[in-house]
Amino acid sequence: MEKKFTIISNWKMYFDVNEELNFSTINYDNLIKLSNPQNRIILCPSFLTLSSIKELFKDTNIFIGAQNCSKHSKGSFTGQILIESLNKLSIKYCLIGHSETRQEFKETDNDITQKFSKLIDFGISPILCIGETLEMYTKNKTLELLTEQLHKIFKVIENSYSKLNHLEILIAYEPVWSIGSGIIPELNHLENIFSWLYKNFSNLKNKVNFTLLYGGSVNADNIKQLKNISHINGFLIGKSSLDFQEFEKIVKYDI
Ligand code: PEP
Repeated sequence: MEKKFTIISNWKMYFDVNEELNFSTINYDNLIKLSNPQNRIILCPSFLTLSSIKELFKDTNIFIGAQNCSKHSKGSFTGQILIESLNKLSIKYCLIGHSETRQEFKETDNDITQKFSKLIDFGISPILCIGETLEMYTKNKTLELLTEQLHKIFKVIENSYSKLNHLEILIAYEPVWSIGSGIIPELNHLENIFSWLYKNFSNLKNKVNFTLLYGGSVNADNIKQLKNISHINGFLIGKSSLDFQEFEKIVKYDI
């Protein structure tokens, strides 16, 4: 069976608002051509252009996601992004637990689990990022860390099966030391991690609609190796997704 891929382009804070809109309009037709049932594309722009870009790609096969959200409900939380508002904008995907937000905002697994649970309540698919530091990788402690990061998430999934109602859960394994460094892990490490993730998600008591992604320095040169890893069904891409020619090569690379 042909492998299907979900390719998420995380714009982070690489562009200003004009550049985000320019990138979207200049590459509009080509982005639409790239996205098909075999390669689903999700763009994650900044909050400032989220609704304009959502509107721009309305009725196309390009999906739009948010880069983060608040764990809180409506209230006095200056500078936060309400999940309910993402829902009102018909945003269907939201990144949570990215290592940059974990670090910058001192987010804990508890905070991230609250966001995960609230996103499910509003019918938004969480794109949950997990991954170890270089120190943990070299000490062979990746699985220990992933177990910790996923412990409460599995509990939420088990307890909210009726709410899930086939909602897709996306898990992005992103080694922290690989993000933006140009280095990817050994391929046998990736094979082990993705078999472990696949086994754990498939074994959940109630069946869950999940997609496993890899993120960290994906580019047009390493995509061949990465697409061939069992159970990797997509990629979360930062830097290389902002150069359309490179992004196109990544998406179009056929295994
Ligand atoms: C990311 O932002 O999640 C990421 C993987 O970035 P990069 O592709 O630049 O390493």
